[in-house]
Amino acid sequence: TPVILWFRKDLRFDDNRALAHAAATGRPVLPLYIREPNNGPLGAAQSWWLHHSLVALGHALERLGSRLLLRSGAPQAILSDLIAETGATEVLWNRRYDPAGIESDTDLKSTLRSDGVAVHSFSGQLLHEPSRMKTGTGGFYRVYTPFWRAFEASGEPEDPIEARSTLPAPAEWPDTETLDDWHLLPAKPDWAAAFREVWAPGEAGARKRLEAFVRTGLAGYAVGRDFPAEPHVSMLSPHLALGEISPARVWHATRGLSGSVPAEDVTSFRKELVWREFGYHLLFHFPALARRNFSEKFDGFPWRNDPEGLRRWQRGETGYPIIDAGMRQLWQMGWMHNRVRMIVASFLVKDLLIDWREGERWFRDTLVDADPASNAASWQWVAGSGADAAPFFRIFNPVSQGEKFDPDGAYVRRFVPELKALPDRFIHRPFDAPLSVLEDAGVSLGKTYPLPIVDHKAARERALAAFRGLAGPS
Ligand code: FAD
Repeated sequence: TPVILWFRKDLRFDDNRALAHAAATGRPVLPLYIREPNNGPLGAAQSWWLHHSLVALGHALERLGSRLLLRSGAPQAILSDLIAETGATEVLWNRRYDPAGIESDTDLKSTLRSDGVAVHSFSGQLLHEPSRMKTGTGGFYRVYTPFWRAFEASGEPEDPIEARSTLPAPAEWPDTETLDDWHLLPAKPDWAAAFREVWAPGEAGARKRLEAFVRTGLAGYAVGRDFPAEPHVSMLSPHLALGEISPARVWHATRGLSGSVPAEDVTSFRKELVWREFGYHLLFHFPALARRNFSEKFDGFPWRNDPEGLRRWQRGETGYPIIDAGMRQLWQMGWMHNRVRMIVASFLVKDLLIDWREGERWFRDTLVDADPASNAASWQWVAGSGADAAPFFRIFNPVSQGEKFDPDGAYVRRFVPELKALPDRFIHRPFDAPLSVLEDAGVSLGKTYPLPIVDHKAARERALAAFRGLAGPS
């Protein structure tokens, strides 16, 4: 009798424990992907990614003489139909940790088991199970540094397991939907046209990205990771988000590099991987992380309703070059450098006083790496409402952040080409440039590039006043 191998956020062969288990049974394997209607709907950018990732996974399965079955609907109904059609007696999957996924999987497990179907789930989306890390008093960590220490103390993550090279096929294949029926790609206009130039969704693309990063980007990461024009970050996040590569594989690739890569770069990179774990740890213990302030103190925050400000931020038309470059990078590539994510998020929440949930929602729709834990945890971190958050009163100045982390303006020039000819001195502050300098650079403020939508100094005071009001007169 066949076994069903249900792919979810683990679209890979390598280090895939459910797949290894399926292959080891020696029984026919039915690889399945379910497009779930109500379970963590993917944003538009990630849907583009998913389409290509499923194509890649399907081809990889075909090379092993297998196939990928596509079905859409509620998992319960899909699985029981497939079991009835094929006589399968076992369902295998790798665990997922978003709240809706946990709830759905828990229900499914008990229903399937009560119907006499064996269910086995495996780890692989994270380095450690989020429930495993406990504080001395048995609670969960709210602060990153002790979490990192506990992580280090709990020993090396498990080694990744190698990909299997065979997957027995059933004598007869059940029906499958086609990817084209799912309409995951943008209809016209094709806003994802530029994605193809940057990304190679799928396991092979993930492996290439990892190898290139370890070879050329990792040395210098600790410092270089803050400079958005420098090639010192891995860009692995979208691959990790859909599980095309496992975090254990990434961790493992940073071992045994002594000599070629300074230890501080390896540690710094691993600490970022563990921020991802920390986000899942928080989400596991506080499932409303994307909806509710972690710190209730922020529940009464006087957010402004400012649709025009929000729209200008989303389009990269704020008049602050580093913000506009970041938001346009997001639109063009479906991805933004981490330093710039922090700057644009601070600008939305503090300069525009717009609720962090608007930012979380926009990122969820436009990021190819949109992740329920990292996105929500990071927005709350920036807003000051999160666990171990940056204090609200630390407000990024978009000009000085730009000058510090994009000193020669290379990043701004790439994404805001209308400012390309400005001298370095004014690239982050065109509004301070003398008219003659603007004219020489072909810039006409208010026409070819916007004037600032807020005055940062005044906006900063306004934000601090709102925060003081919240804190009360203490
Ligand atoms: P690298 O620097 O190469 O890091 C390697 C991996 O570590 C990343 O792929 C990622 O999995 C993890 N990582 C790195 N930095 C962080 C971080 N600060 N928090 C959590 N994990 C991290 N990351 C997402 O994966 N999905 C999101 O939806 C997301 N939303 C964010 C929203 C905001 C407002 C901010 C400030 C950050 C957000 N991040 C998110 C975290 C971070 O910006 C990205 O993970 C990182 O930029 C991805 O690029 P990279 O793969 O080159 O990172």
